[in-house]
Amino acid sequence: MTFLQYMRLIKTTMLSTFMGMFITIKIFSKAITRGTVTIQYPEMRDNIPPDSRGLLFNDVEDCISCRACANICPVDCIHIEADKKVATATPEFTKGGVKKTLDLKRFDIDVSLCCYCGLCSSVCPTDCLYHTKDYEYSTYDRDHHNVDYLNYTR
Ligand code: SF4
Ligand code: SF4
Repeated sequence: MTFLQYMRLIKTTMLSTFMGMFITIKIFSKAITRGTVTIQYPEMRDNIPPDSRGLLFNDVEDCISCRACANICPVDCIHIEADKKVATATPEFTKGGVKKTLDLKRFDIDVSLCCYCGLCSSVCPTDCLYHTKDYEYSTYDRDHHNVDYLNYTR
């Protein structure tokens, strides 16, 4: 390496260091003027955006067991079992007046597989299935993520 090449390398190194520091200082000064952007979670909680999708909830009283949610789910994490109502049974209706022709026996969602796409809630004809704002349901046991909505205790 010639002396000239050596000096050029020093110049390039100094220039790139200066450019890097310039960007760092620029972003740092912006962060300082903007103020604190972190919060002391879990003592403090930020507002959740209105359309955010948290843990799913099914108000099973209004579920007509139509399976529209399970059929559209891209990851097959909704499990429904239902029997035909016996002809002599007292007719049951949802709050919106839709007649229930099936007896819901199982409605589980394995929320560890759910990708929160929102498809299931968007096709539900009685609007009984929807995303809540709940995002705090970590667990040590993966099986606890299979939520049984007929025996819902959360
Ligand atoms: S949000 Fe999407 S992935 Fe989750 S249960 Fe509904 S359809 Fe399935
Ligand atoms: S789409 Fe709605 S009514 Fe139909 S099975 Fe799913 S939760 Fe029940």
